[in-house]
Amino acid sequence: GSSDAIKEPKLPLISLGSGSKAQPCLAFCLQIFINNEWHDAVSKKTFPSINPATGEVICQVAEGDKVNVVGMRWVCFPWERVQRGSVLVTSPRLFRKPCCLLQALETLDNGKPYAISYLVDLDMVVKCLRYFAGWSDKFHGKTIPLDGDFFCYTRHEPVGVCGQIIPWNFPLLMQAWKLGPALATGNVVVMKVAEQTPLSALYVANLIKEAGFPPGVVNIIPGYGPTAGAAISSHMDIDKVAFTGSTEVGHLIQKAAAESNLKRVTLELGGKSPNIIMSDADMDWAVDQAHFALFFNQGQCCCAGSRTYVQEDIYNEFVERSVEKAKARVVGNPFDFKTEQGPQVDEEQFKKILGYISTGQREGAKLLCGGNAAADRGYFIQPTVFGDVQDNMTIAREEIFGPVMQILKFKTIEEVIERANDSKYGLAAAVFTKDLDKANFVSQSLRAGTVWINCYDVFGAQAPFGGYKASGNGRELGEYGLEAYVEVKNVTIKIPQKNS
Ligand code: NAD
Ligand code: MN
Repeated sequence: GSSDAIKEPKLPLISLGSGSKAQPCLAFCLQIFINNEWHDAVSKKTFPSINPATGEVICQVAEGDKVNVVGMRWVCFPWERVQRGSVLVTSPRLFRKPCCLLQALETLDNGKPYAISYLVDLDMVVKCLRYFAGWSDKFHGKTIPLDGDFFCYTRHEPVGVCGQIIPWNFPLLMQAWKLGPALATGNVVVMKVAEQTPLSALYVANLIKEAGFPPGVVNIIPGYGPTAGAAISSHMDIDKVAFTGSTEVGHLIQKAAAESNLKRVTLELGGKSPNIIMSDADMDWAVDQAHFALFFNQGQCCCAGSRTYVQEDIYNEFVERSVEKAKARVVGNPFDFKTEQGPQVDEEQFKKILGYISTGQREGAKLLCGGNAAADRGYFIQPTVFGDVQDNMTIAREEIFGPVMQILKFKTIEEVIERANDSKYGLAAAVFTKDLDKANFVSQSLRAGTVWINCYDVFGAQAPFGGYKASGNGRELGEYGLEAYVEVKNVTIKIPQKNS
């Protein structure tokens, strides 16, 4: 994050009231954004966006349920040839312009602490777009020596019309991760934003128009998964789908692609990431980072360190200190600067997480703190820690996506590697140790797309992110993140042997 002082949130367009009457007067369009124009749904349907801190409706948003891409394809090829770098470059600056409105919308709709929306999410959004703007004239082909009198080169051409389906845990950031590489490589995009959190993404659509993107390059559809989302993944005239969300829906997307036009599929799915604390680790730092690894963003991170493996000789002290830290975590109004943890995103997630907590207790894990709702309204959950967790328990196998920490004990490095890899997932992992040999051995042995050593959740637009196994396929961010958005064309030319 940056070290700018946090500015007081100015909410000129949203009246938050005392929370009791979140009366929206959002002065921007909350409709379907196609060809740089705003449209109602053909059905005229709308759906409510909810403030998870109160459970109240913020406003109604147009509900797209079908996808019409007629006209998008012809935009693609002229767009490929315009100086898209210069358009992309202006967009990060625009994101700073609405002052605190974007961050405030993010917090209002998603529940994450305003200080985090301000210092972490928006900062990463701007850096991501700036990074990909830089690639827009640099991700090019090669000249390749062939046997014989031929000149061979490759072109990186846009895939075409890209469907992008994003989740609610980092609405603005997931939008930037998807738009950046797609636009830098000259594609056009039709994006379905999560039904829980459509507001900030729609504000961005206003900015996109202002940045000067040609009509049809970015199209944004608020709506539900089984309708608008499924319309994208099964569409015969969409060339690629990029999805972030649950592994369950990942299966549906890949199947729909297979059964329609074999569109290209990239998936960024769930995880149950192991965080391994060796007994020689710096105890203060390891406790701190293991807490952050799990509780950051209300526990709603695909890469959350949700299996904390602690070596036996430090286990008791580590557990005790982790519980202290969880008890001290400040849960409350996300617009309060002291708040570290806001509400879960919606009632469905709230109930699901409480369900996992009872399952944990029933299966014999030791509930050390938390375990209940943290307020009498809104979707707040107490920071919860389970000790004595066994590998076969549900809470050690399934993604909880909430503020619930699982601590497990291990003896040897070989044992913990085997246990850490015994999961259908392989998104991220971490190891805390001062011993370089151990760190290298563990990082090479873990089947995961990212391994952090003595740190957690360190992200940069420059470095790839993605999963092994059921955590998905393809990589986002970095140069690797561009690969999914181009078709490589081989052009081979006969060269005459003699000039005659
Ligand atoms: P989800 O997978 O249902 O939703 C993610 C996105 O996919 C949303 O935009 C949704 O509308 C869309 N979608 C849903 N069904 C679809 C379908 N049939 N076809 C096309 N698109 C569809 O996730 P959820 O129900 O919001 O959360 C369930 C669980 O998923 C969470 O508890 C968590 O474990 C996981 N999750 C993971 C991530 C992540 O970052 N990897 C993000 C959100 C949720
Ligand atoms: Mn869902």
